[in-house]
Amino acid sequence: FISVGPMIMRNGTEEQKQEILPKVLRGEMNFALGYTEPNAGTDLASMQTRATRDGDEWVINGQKIYTSSAHLATHVWLAARTEPEAPKHRGISTFVLPLNTPGITVRPLWVMGEGRTNETFWEDVRIPADSLIGEENRGWYIVSGALDLERVAIGTYRPLEKTVSDMVAHIKAERPELADDAFARNAVADALMRVEVARALATNNAAMVHSGLIPTMEASMGKIWTTDSRERVNDAFMDLLGRSGGMQAENGDAPLDGALDAAWRGAPVGRFGGGTNDIQRRIIANRGLGLPR
Ligand SMILES: Cc1cc2nc3c(=O)[nH]c(=O)nc-3n(C[C@H](O)[C@H](O)[C@H](O)COP(=O)(O)OP(=O)(O)OC[C@H]3O[C@@H](n4cnc5c(N)ncnc54)[C@H](O)[C@@H]3O)c2cc1C
Repeated sequence: FISVGPMIMRNGTEEQKQEILPKVLRGEMNFALGYTEPNAGTDLASMQTRATRDGDEWVINGQKIYTSSAHLATHVWLAARTEPEAPKHRGISTFVLPLNTPGITVRPLWVMGEGRTNETFWEDVRIPADSLIGEENRGWYIVSGALDLERVAIGTYRPLEKTVSDMVAHIKAERPELADDAFARNAVADALMRVEVARALATNNAAMVHSGLIPTMEASMGKIWTTDSRERVNDAFMDLLGRSGGMQAENGDAPLDGALDAAWRGAPVGRFGGGTNDIQRRIIANRGLGLPR
């Protein structure tokens, strides 16, 4: 919603905007993101999935991996190679197509935090010519903008804020003795400062998006700070709760109803989704601060 819709607003034809955007707003159309391939993760521009023009249609063949939500979404926002002879960043195009199009196979991939993502296989998938969004072979720039917006979404401070407020409520209600513990006081104080910095970064990103800008370095900063903070705060709170911290909700008497355990196991994926945090640091250094690549 936050990454695909705005890129269609910027790059779609009038017909595409009329057709797609109201459905997105009504929640009738949502997207899996089809970027990553087995041999194209960080180096996304090396993607090999091909879209070949055949009369009034595009024919797609290839494989994607980590196509999260492909088993739930109605459509896929797909990046595929349309010009194999061009330099790798200049031969990619973006498409929107229904996930029930014949030729698409979705296979589950279970990952840490009890999450499901997918492998997707594309065999002679035929879609109408007007499924192309934006200019042919200019998709890299559209994907880059969509990834910036995805990072804004990943950088939301809300889950972190909830973890901290839940823990403070738990200490007050169930473990008041921890209020006298310097380690516990430091842990919640540090966590609250992390929430406030995350909120400031997210608010700045929201203001930029609201003014029609696409945050780049700012989106990377928000994503790094928030996802790193989730892991640090969850770790510190696990230490605080001791052996009961890792109890899952099914135990009935798990502290925070097992929410800390779930947050702890779910947090690492934030460092990878939307591009790894290593790469976000590189974006800040190169695109943000102008260091030579
Ligand atoms: C649970 C999950 C859900 C995902 N959902 C989606 C999705 O819905 N759609 C989608 O398209 N993708 C999705 N992804 C893919 C995700 O975006 C990639 O995992 C990520 O871009 C990294 O690619 P990779 O896994 O191939 O790692 P690699 O590119 O192999 O990187 C491995 C490590 O090397 C480091 N590295 C690589 N190159 C460099 C470099 N040049 N400089 C410094 N460090 C480098 C990376 O930072 C990383 O730590 C998902 C991934 C996961 C784990």
